[in-house]
Amino acid sequence: MSDHVIPAPQVHVIPTSSGGTFPVRRVYCIGRNFAAHAVEMGHDPNREPPFFFQKNPDNLDASGEFPYPPHSADVHHELELLVGLKSGGTNIPVDKALDHVWGYGVSLDMTRRDLQGEAKKMGRPWEIGKAFERSGPVGPLLPVSEVGHPDHGRIALAVNGDVRQEGDLNQMIWKVPEMISYLSEYFELRAGDVIMAGTPSGVNAVQRGDTMEASIEGVGSLTVKVV
Ligand code: MN
Repeated sequence: MSDHVIPAPQVHVIPTSSGGTFPVRRVYCIGRNFAAHAVEMGHDPNREPPFFFQKNPDNLDASGEFPYPPHSADVHHELELLVGLKSGGTNIPVDKALDHVWGYGVSLDMTRRDLQGEAKKMGRPWEIGKAFERSGPVGPLLPVSEVGHPDHGRIALAVNGDVRQEGDLNQMIWKVPEMISYLSEYFELRAGDVIMAGTPSGVNAVQRGDTMEASIEGVGSLTVKVV
């Protein structure tokens, strides 16, 4: 019998291609990991140390619907490769980092850009712009045994059929093993941690009724309706 004084929250899970579920522990998101996106956001694309923010595990949502969030009039799509870890640790060397990956998927780092912009201006944290309800639409995670470790290939997002974001995974400034290694120097990584690996240029606003179609070559596709 549990001695919890309130009902225990459930472990949040996302689907996998086999029908099993992947329990999510933490969600790390890298900022400005494609040079062209750094430029469009007004920053220097040169390779500075990476930086990360977090979403909440239960922000990840595989329903195929994205409810337009309150208190924003400028909600942007950011298409990103999702990396799911099966193990972790601290101070993981780059050349051992991929041993910790369970699989990959397609995800969206939906962003209340107006609120994020205010937070940046005021020197405040980004959660209000990034870590809101259902702010992380995801497709199923695919195991490494199916997709390998994708490090190149087209990554693109269309809204109502018009291509908005387009790039190649090989344009990522910080590669997946480097991100895992870097994070593990600052945090203890564990099974269930996921990383959103950064977005190519072309981020833009969505409206209710829009359909977002995201794809990453070799990983899959994800269709999400803004409701
Ligand atoms: Mn992002």
